[in-house]
Amino acid sequence: MKAFLFLRDLIDLFYPNICPACDKPMQHAEKHFCLYCELQLPKTNFVSTDDNSVYKLFVGRVPIDAADAWLYFVKKGMVQKLMHSLKYKGNEALGEYLGYLYGLDLKSNKLLNLPECICAVPLHPDKLKTRGFNQAAAIARGMAKALEIPFLDHFILRKENAESQTRKKRFDRWASSVQSYQINPELSCPFQRVALVDDVITTGSTLEICATLLKEIGIKKVQVFALCQAIN
Ligand SMILES: [Zn+2]
Repeated sequence: MKAFLFLRDLIDLFYPNICPACDKPMQHAEKHFCLYCELQLPKTNFVSTDDNSVYKLFVGRVPIDAADAWLYFVKKGMVQKLMHSLKYKGNEALGEYLGYLYGLDLKSNKLLNLPECICAVPLHPDKLKTRGFNQAAAIARGMAKALEIPFLDHFILRKENAESQTRKKRFDRWASSVQSYQINPELSCPFQRVALVDDVITTGSTLEICATLLKEIGIKKVQVFALCQAIN
């Protein structure tokens, strides 16, 4: 055992695991990012306040039961670095871990009626091909684990766009975006309070389209959760 620990320390000395948020070497127990960064996560606490800028995004667009973004995303900030590692360095496990931490925070929130199941905003098929996984699904899977509820993988599907989006007028672009999403006809959802998860929220358009689809199949309460909200 001692020899193993010595060898492990030796390997760590030459090939340390680097925290994707602060670029410093991590300890053995720190798997995805360091504890110091975990304690510094810029949480919004929107879900516990009346001044919830994510909820306000959906007012007058689609009826939402609850909405939240867990972290603030600022340029060159810690969250941007974490998201970069998740999306562009194939760090799917980091997404699941962040989702798990987010889920634990939601679970301890007394003001929120917790969802009964969770689904994710789908990724464009081209991006899925290059990235190999859907980062929103990774986050949703981690949240489902913490909340101890089912994750409905591939519940919402995204199709390829036949025509170039840039050549269309604004309304046509919107209509075509709506048509490129659909509920998976092979799956059914026996729950009435469903959480919809995305990685980053900016205008909320994608979440609006997906939430509308869930309402159209009769889901009574749709909740919208993003891991982070981009702010200027
Ligand atoms: Zn760190």
